[in-house]
Amino acid sequence: RAKASGKNRYDFYTQDMTDQAFERILMVGAMRNAIEHEQFVVHYQPQIDVRDNSIIGAEALIRWQDPQLGTIEPGRFIPLAEKTGMIQVIDRWVLDTVCRNISEWQQAGYNVPRISVNISTRHFGSNTLAGEVADILKRNDCASEMIELEITEGVIMNNPNNAGNELEQLRKMGIRLAIDDFGTGYSSLSYLKKLPLDRLKIDHSFITDIPEDNNDQAISRAIIAMANSLGLEVIAEGMESEEQRQFLIDEKCFYAQGFLFSKGVPEHSFLSMLKQH
Ligand code: C2E
Ligand code: MG
Ligand code: MG
Ligand code: MG
Repeated sequence: RAKASGKNRYDFYTQDMTDQAFERILMVGAMRNAIEHEQFVVHYQPQIDVRDNSIIGAEALIRWQDPQLGTIEPGRFIPLAEKTGMIQVIDRWVLDTVCRNISEWQQAGYNVPRISVNISTRHFGSNTLAGEVADILKRNDCASEMIELEITEGVIMNNPNNAGNELEQLRKMGIRLAIDDFGTGYSSLSYLKKLPLDRLKIDHSFITDIPEDNNDQAISRAIIAMANSLGLEVIAEGMESEEQRQFLIDEKCFYAQGFLFSKGVPEHSFLSMLKQH
């Protein structure tokens, strides 16, 4: 590519950009179609108390089931959805599905724990999120205490003045707020005392190499200590081994989600887990 020169190089890059733009248009169309034709599904990954394996919550994770391509992981379409604005439609659809499921499960007699829903940073800044969330809860007859929204530090970085405002509105409604992928962002920590947060989620990249990696141990230990002393709940992502479970217990991080207990599973499997508990 670097060797191409003159007109050829120009053509090459324009062609490249056109392909990209074309692919985006195709993907946006495909995502719209996927919503209409119910190709998106929500899987639920249990969040557990590491001391006794009791289920204390679950995270809703979107999956795209294309009839030809099979299951498409969120890593392959969420970033594009964020660039094109489709993410607003997708996140609203996920929240709506989760709220509907919660009230159906409750009516069927299940003891339903709180469900965490990922919300892209793209929703913040226009001051419409709290109203949308209120509408969705009401429509599905779902109590606000049943929902936690996961946001990333990007919300604060992109929008330092207004973020607090929008988060306050959600918190006042009784929605819980968690910082996802904690420790991977670039914002200062001062927001932790200003914003109405309930929980930090330690990013799985700090958990993966425990116990071998001493630096990751030190970082995780520091996040847990900080959360505990700020009065925030803390939960570890990506717990895959017994050693990691023991580490978390020793360091007083009592909540986790990860393949050691379960990956994200379809609704019916999640319900049978709830029944067993
Ligand atoms: P996330 O919110 O940090 O979600 C956790 C991801 O880690 C999930 O990947 C989950 O399957 C995976 N995971 C959980 N336990 C383990 C483990 O023990 N080991 C390993 N290796 N991985 C584990 P997934 O479902 O592929 O989602 C990836 C990301 O896509 C999510 O990261 C989130 O940022 C985004 N995403 C998923 N669903 C939604 C959604 O409905 N809306 C938005 N805006 N983003 C979503
Ligand atoms: Mg998440
Ligand atoms: Mg995460
Ligand atoms: Mg994430």
